[in-house]
Order: sequence, then C-alpha cells, then structure tokens
Amino acid sequence: MLAVVSDNINLDQDSNWASVVNMTDYYPFGLAMDGRTEQDSSYRYGFNAQEKVDEIKGPGNHYTAEFWEYDPKVVHRWNLDPRPNPSSSSYAILQGSPIWYSDHLGDTIKIAGTGGFINYSPGMKHEGENDFASSTINTLNEIFEKDGGETVLSRLSNSNNVYSILDEGGGAGTASFGFQKGENGGGKIKAGSILGLENLSRVEKLGHELFHGYQFERGQDPYTINSEVGANLFGQSLVAGFGGMAPGQDPVATTKYHDASIELLLSTEFDIKQYQQAVSNFKMGSSKNLPNNKYPNGPYSQFPIVNLKKPIISEFFPLLKD
Ligand SMILES: [Zn+2]
Repeated sequence: MLAVVSDNINLDQDSNWASVVNMTDYYPFGLAMDGRTEQDSSYRYGFNAQEKVDEIKGPGNHYTAEFWEYDPKVVHRWNLDPRPNPSSSSYAILQGSPIWYSDHLGDTIKIAGTGGFINYSPGMKHEGENDFASSTINTLNEIFEKDGGETVLSRLSNSNNVYSILDEGGGAGTASFGFQKGENGGGKIKAGSILGLENLSRVEKLGHELFHGYQFERGQDPYTINSEVGANLFGQSLVAGFGGMAPGQDPVATTKYHDASIELLLSTEFDIKQYQQAVSNFKMGSSKNLPNNKYPNGPYSQFPIVNLKKPIISEFFPLLKD
C-alpha cells in the first residue's frame, strides 16, 4: 500500500493535520488494484509519482512523465526510451524490475554545465561549448562501453537518487577527484581536474568515483579502506592498467598491496585472501595514502578497515574480460 500525504498542512488552533489524498494498492508497475483505492479528485498522480492520464484508457490505466508514456497493464512505454540501455528493450519500463528501480523523470546522473545541469543518458552527444561537460560526457560514454561500466552507470542513472558530477576539486588531500555521499542518498562526484588528464586517466578516475557512488547506492559505505580498494580495482579494470601504483610509505606493504591488486585484476574469480591482503596493506602500501600537508598520515588514514565477506567488487569478476 502506498499512501500519499499532501503538503497542504491545515492549521486549526492547537492541532494541525495533513490530508491523505491517495491510498492505493498497486500491482507491480502501477496498475491499481480494483476496490483498493481511495482518491481525492484533486490529486493527479499515481504509482512512482507518475502523472495519470485517465482520459486515454480510463482511470489509472495510463501514466505520463517527462520522458515516457506508458500503460501499466501492458508494461510497455509508448515512446522509445530516449536513453536506451543495450541490455534491455527500448520499450522496457524500470528495467523490468519495479521493486528494484524507480524513476521519476528517467534521468538521474547530472553533469554541471554552463548555466545548469545536463541530464546524462548513455551514448548521448553533447554539442555545447562547455569543455568540462563535453569531456565528462565523452568519458562516461567510454565507461558505458565496458561491461562493468554499463552495470554501474545503468544502476546510477536508473536510481531515484541524484548523482551529480561537478566541476570542482575533490576533497581527499592529494586526490583531485572525490565522491561525497548525500545525506539522503545520491551524491556528488567532484571531477574538476578531468580536463588536465589523458584519456585513460579520465576513464580510470571517473570510473573510480562512479564506483563509490555504486557502492553507496548498494549499501556499502564508500568511506572505508575496503571501498577504496574496490574502487581502485574497478577503475584499473576499466583501463586494464596498473598505472598509478607508485610506492607507498613502506616497501614491504607496497609489495604486498601491489601483488594482491595485480593478482585480483588478473584472476577469473574473486579471491577473498588476496582482497584482504590488499585491504590490510593499503594504508602503508598505496601511493594514494602518501602523507601531504593536509593529511600528515595520508588522506585515507582515518578510514576504517571493515570485515566484508562479499564486497561489491566481488560481483565484477573477472575484472578483465578477455
Ligand atoms: Zn576513492
């Protein structure tokens, strides 16, 4: 049962109340169950906050939003998806999974552009003059070409949470990119230094931050050493490269961290022992945690190591396809 409470708050002496304008039990995809609906005639919306168009096929049998028209009985959209996803039909609704996904407008990765945000859809062309937006869109399109990249971008762009990519510096000391989780879901990816990078580094670094968004979206805290190791592996898998693995603070830990990372990148199955070796040697073994002015012990020195049996990165094995 979904109930919608209006934001018209009535005030009356010492009490106040809000009216319930709609109570509906829905079948999956939003067809209302017969006899299980109460509706105030002033309320125009139904399932998934979609606007109902009752004139077309009768009450509750047609929905509209900015990017689609659809019939909740047939579960097909009228129009072709403006952001088609090669892994599902261009007529599909919510990737065929109304419990997993919700989609108010159909676009939830936003890229800062000149004078506002651009909604990203995989494969889109950007003709604007804003170099940051063009370069970010091109990089996202390259990431979407990879199996893992497609999984991550599809999930984030079908999420009800908003992920925005900003032309700002990242937060973690030497790191010029960063992910900042939102208080109520979603988050900000700071990618302001993308223009100063070569193409492969753009893919690796933006892919790394997107993976933090994906971790957060899936309920794994992105602010842990485990998530940092996972995002590093994911970024490296996109470019099939081990660049950026410069020495950390301690030579023994550096060797252990690098060996475990390379082993994980090359192996066909997730190996928890190698993963734990990478995690436990990251702080002293990764150049990403070298001390700087702001963080004398390294930018990740405050991050905890947690015990994860099935970290999200384990679902992406083998990391290098073919
Ligand atoms: Zn990171």
